[in-house]
Amino acid sequence: MSDPGVQASLHKNLKTTLPRINNYINSTRFREVNLVDRLYPDSSSVELSHWALPGGSGAWEQWTFNTIVTQTFTPVSVGSSYGPTWTTHWFRLVFSIPDEWAGSEVRLRWASNSEAAVWSDSGQLLQGLSTGTSYMYRPNYTITTNHQVGQTGPYTLYVEMAANRLFGASGDGDNISPPSPDLYFTLSRAEIARVDQQVYKLTRDLEVLYQLADKLVDLGDQRGYQALYTANQMVNSIIAGQDSVASSLADEYFSKGNGSRAHTLAVMGNCHIDSAWLWPYTETKRKVARSFSSQLALMDRYPEHIFVASQVQTDRQSLEAQQWQWCKQYFPELWTRVKERVTEGRFIPVGGTWVEMDGNIPSGESFIRQFLLGQKFYQNELGITCKEFWLPDTFGYSAQIPAIMNHMGLKRFLTQKMSWSLVNKFPHHNFTWEGLDGSTVLAHFPPGDSYVMSVTVEEAVRTERNLQDKGRASTSAFLFGYGDGGGGPTQDMLERTRRLADTDGCPKATLMTPDQLFTQLESDEHNFCRWVGELYLELHNGTYTTHADMKRLCRRAELELRDAELLLSQAIVILGVTGVAQLLQESQVALEEAWQNVLLNQFHDVLPGSCIGMVYPEAQTMYQQAIQAANTVRDNAAAAIFGSSGEVTDVLVNTLPWPRVEVVTVGGNPTLVSVPSMGTAPPDPQTPASQVMLTEVDGTFVIENGLIRAEIDFYGRVTSLRVIGDDADHDVFQRPPGATSGEQLYGNQIVMYDDEPLYYDAWDVMDYHLETPLVLNDADVFLQSGYSVSSPVVVENTPLLCSVRWGVTFGSSTFTQDIQLTADCPHLTFLTSVSWGENRKIIKALHSTSLYTNSASFDIQFGHLERPTHMNTSWDSARYEVCGHKWADLSEPDWGVAVLNDCKYGWMARGHTLALSLLRSPKAPDDTADMGNHTFKYALLPHQGTLLEAGVVQRAYEFNVPILTIQAPPDRGLESWVRVLGQGVLLHTVKPAEDGLGEVILRMYECNGTRSKVTLALQWPVTSVKECNGMEEAGVDVPFVQDAGTTSIDLAFTPFSIKALRLTLQ
Ligand SMILES: [Zn+2]
Repeated sequence: MSDPGVQASLHKNLKTTLPRINNYINSTRFREVNLVDRLYPDSSSVELSHWALPGGSGAWEQWTFNTIVTQTFTPVSVGSSYGPTWTTHWFRLVFSIPDEWAGSEVRLRWASNSEAAVWSDSGQLLQGLSTGTSYMYRPNYTITTNHQVGQTGPYTLYVEMAANRLFGASGDGDNISPPSPDLYFTLSRAEIARVDQQVYKLTRDLEVLYQLADKLVDLGDQRGYQALYTANQMVNSIIAGQDSVASSLADEYFSKGNGSRAHTLAVMGNCHIDSAWLWPYTETKRKVARSFSSQLALMDRYPEHIFVASQVQTDRQSLEAQQWQWCKQYFPELWTRVKERVTEGRFIPVGGTWVEMDGNIPSGESFIRQFLLGQKFYQNELGITCKEFWLPDTFGYSAQIPAIMNHMGLKRFLTQKMSWSLVNKFPHHNFTWEGLDGSTVLAHFPPGDSYVMSVTVEEAVRTERNLQDKGRASTSAFLFGYGDGGGGPTQDMLERTRRLADTDGCPKATLMTPDQLFTQLESDEHNFCRWVGELYLELHNGTYTTHADMKRLCRRAELELRDAELLLSQAIVILGVTGVAQLLQESQVALEEAWQNVLLNQFHDVLPGSCIGMVYPEAQTMYQQAIQAANTVRDNAAAAIFGSSGEVTDVLVNTLPWPRVEVVTVGGNPTLVSVPSMGTAPPDPQTPASQVMLTEVDGTFVIENGLIRAEIDFYGRVTSLRVIGDDADHDVFQRPPGATSGEQLYGNQIVMYDDEPLYYDAWDVMDYHLETPLVLNDADVFLQSGYSVSSPVVVENTPLLCSVRWGVTFGSSTFTQDIQLTADCPHLTFLTSVSWGENRKIIKALHSTSLYTNSASFDIQFGHLERPTHMNTSWDSARYEVCGHKWADLSEPDWGVAVLNDCKYGWMARGHTLALSLLRSPKAPDDTADMGNHTFKYALLPHQGTLLEAGVVQRAYEFNVPILTIQAPPDRGLESWVRVLGQGVLLHTVKPAEDGLGEVILRMYECNGTRSKVTLALQWPVTSVKECNGMEEAGVDVPFVQDAGTTSIDLAFTPFSIKALRLTLQ
């Protein structure tokens, strides 16, 4: 550069220097001279023709590439639009590459404001494309990195365009609004272009230097100033036409490495693809293929690149299906290439589960099956067993997860979602997580608090600075890559990773596998703190209630599958391993498919209820198919057990491991029956210890059965509830003598609240909803226009069953309830029907009790836990809506009350009030969520003694697992297949082993939180008993004794521990 004799200021003004640099790498200013405008010096149009694939969402699944390319394509031009929403459009692109471009990289540049994929003319899926109005996620495809003279073509490529965006198809610009059915997408660019490689390099260099200057100058770091000066000098060189000088300046900067104390970022490419969310399952299959193919293309070019992918998933048409299996089924050619990279260790399956499931609602057994079927797939298809549980995006994590992980042989856990908590910042990114039974796992949260980073200096510095465990850990995961439809890492991200690999001033960006990361963390684990109990996410707590149909069907399917597996196991005993072979084989195929349906729909937007409406009919169908399959297996197994020829009659089956005496319907009539533990009995009527009585005095109904007594008022509220014979005169809803406040307490208050979250409608029930209660069943309801209560009337009054019916009409809804008591039953049941038509309201059944306690107990997966009912700390206060399963309980040391339910998960325990959330009515992303009819039941179970002494756990199972009526020969008498002698151990699962060899798995858990010793007594011809893990791998021998056809096994359990046995039968 010549020197005119006047020097520019050496005092760089940040406010002018930084924007000047930035204008060279962004497209809005310094047009034509900036690097962006110089990247493509030459371009050429393509000859474009189009064929619209007939049909809407999912229609593509019926077409093969070879058939598609024989269709009639019509010439079109850039500027035309394609739709409507969810349709598919194929484009044929024919072009020649000029000889003058020899030696250059040539790209296809595409912009359709939609998702798309590039195919070769031989039918190879080459890469995904994803462009939007505000952001170009993946706008080009590299046709060649080095064009050769004479190879001008013509060439043909195909582009498959999906008429939806990365985040679905909302019509108003807000991603979570319900999709618009009539969107059209304009093709605004389709051309080939030559890349100036020097300009591309300079763009990435300048970009990273700009980021370093922008971030580090702020922090007073002198490397930031060096970056600023270097970048500014590069701009001067670029203006002078000296690109190579500019390039050398950058190289010089990046050559200065870190010292050994620098924090290491374990950089991993990933793309978090929600299996269904703002789009249906069918679109995810293509998102997976686009993303996987994009990563393979990058791996060809960047040998250091590794990519991690989670989630095996099924397709309901076939057992052969998954996100990995979807790839296998729908894109076999791509699958072959993926497998090669898996073998190389660069395409890495993580997580081990079938899908990234909800972390609160699935049962303990479902959690285990997520791992069992997930790992089985990875082992069978890829020869890999995942070593870590990978669940970055789920809305809270059950306290029993560490025990379940240990049962499955896993010790490593990764998530980042806890960073979303609204109130309290989680105090660790690395910690030993201790679960309900004392089991521990190593937990890591990527300190960047994200799994969709794009490798910027800001993210790298944030990751290091945000780390909560400074001094305890020297390595942190750094997950980068666009999620959902963005296709994962991009070339630009990988180029930035190279520049940040070891650059002084910034943490080291080291490409690392999850195994390498966790191995490093394990070496530091002795320094880590311990977190005991659940990881409660202080957000998204409306998802315990939204889309009640998903919760109801999930609970139903889990328990129907449990019944089916027990009966199938008993069929093995009856027919023998050889005799049962065919039945077992057919049934296990059906059960595996059923479980896959259940597991898929436990995905962390489907079960929580946060998907668009079009996902739910399909999910309902899959759940119903699973239930149907379970019932078929159950019935076939029953036929094998009992014989199916000749005269048959009703026989009762109890699948729970203790004897039951209950009122069931036999021949259309309520009948008190008795059935032994995991066994059968004829439906012989039993005489109740006491008859049920229903009387009315001045509009108050008194209902009692010798065990409990309840009073129900004019509004359907419970004003008194007590255990008969309780000498201390405890009443759940009557204040004790001497109480300072005299206000009446009520059970079964139906309360509606405004439920207008700040943003995430389907996800959140905010703290402030509690400020807007409207009791629907008290005198004030008549002040509301159009609201009315119909007071209780008697609907049943027999010695075995009494019930009264009441209801309330409000808003656009009606609520009807039968309050029922049966003979020999310790709880009062509320059989509820709701026609629900509200807008952003939540209703709860609220029970304000007389109990004095500071904590409530909640049923969770294979155990229960206590949570405070006060708001002493911000952590307590933030847990105003919590997750529980079949029951929750408020107790004083010697008495209490439990609330049971058959399909609900949202609870509030505040002071002495326990509330069960019944229904919500969010409007985004599904504006029809929960509208329509619902039936469900809950119950109040007053008890003497502790909840354990009262058998709350067992009563809640009975409330959910009905005694079955099946057909069998009339000579079939009383039999008990399996008994558990002793307290505290719940035999939950009895199932045939997955390997189809006819061995049987028993899974138990300690349900009281005590040390328990029990004896299993099996009427089975057992030849071997071994301990096994959740993967059903046999461990040590367990001693057993056989006497007169009974096999006895003594077992000892620590509190809330999970144990499984593998039994060989004769
Ligand atoms: Zn997600």
